[in-house]
Amino acid sequence: MTDPGGGPAASSTGRRILLLVGPVGAGKGTQAAALSGELGLAHLASGNLFRQAVIDGSPLGEQARVYMERGDLVPDDITIEMFMHELSKPAAARGAILDGFPRTVTQARALDATLAERGEQIERVISIEVPMEELVARVAGRRVCPECGTSYHVDSDPPRVAGRCDNDGTELQQRDDDRPEVVRARLEKQVRPMLEVLDYYDQKGMVQHVDGTQPIPAVTAEILDGLRDGW
Ligand code: AMP
Repeated sequence: MTDPGGGPAASSTGRRILLLVGPVGAGKGTQAAALSGELGLAHLASGNLFRQAVIDGSPLGEQARVYMERGDLVPDDITIEMFMHELSKPAAARGAILDGFPRTVTQARALDATLAERGEQIERVISIEVPMEELVARVAGRRVCPECGTSYHVDSDPPRVAGRCDNDGTELQQRDDDRPEVVRARLEKQVRPMLEVLDYYDQKGMVQHVDGTQPIPAVTAEILDGLRDGW
């Protein structure tokens, strides 16, 4: 329990800007969907936005594509410009949940400065926390139908017949980058900059740490309680 109601007040524009932070497999996408529905906020996920821009062939997509194909981060100025553009759309009139951004302390400082120029600030940073080995087990248990794209989990969401898709009976596959050794390597690369970002916001008293090993609805409820009452 940190200082109840701690952290800065909401933006002077009245919009709510929340950051959702957590490594791959922590359930960020699931929580973002629940929270954006519950709070009427846009869900802005950097990876999805960049991928869509590439598909659309927009100038931003063209710029981002080169970096994404190399597996590098897109430069900060392009990334910030993309988020500010998304935040200016009607879908974000009540605010937004930012997911996948900021990924580095440099991005966090730049985001804070850019928001401040507009009289806005981040209301809360929500950190969904799950131990490394559980993350590996979650991601490594994922199986996908190559035919229809439905995904399953060997423990938490198994198909009716082991190894076969419920919809079309196709043999389920494991994505190459979901293999345990690959997941562990991905996580190790992600975790250090993520902890630095959390530390940066922790020093400002803005982080709500949430136990991401709880059942999905309990995680959502804890976040919403924290937003209502302080935490
Ligand atoms: P993701 O789906 O989150 O793994 O993101 C896919 C790709 O989008 C990454 O490999 C980066 O090239 C780019 N990307 C996503 N988020 C950011 C960010 N915050 N800063 C820079 N590049 C990003």
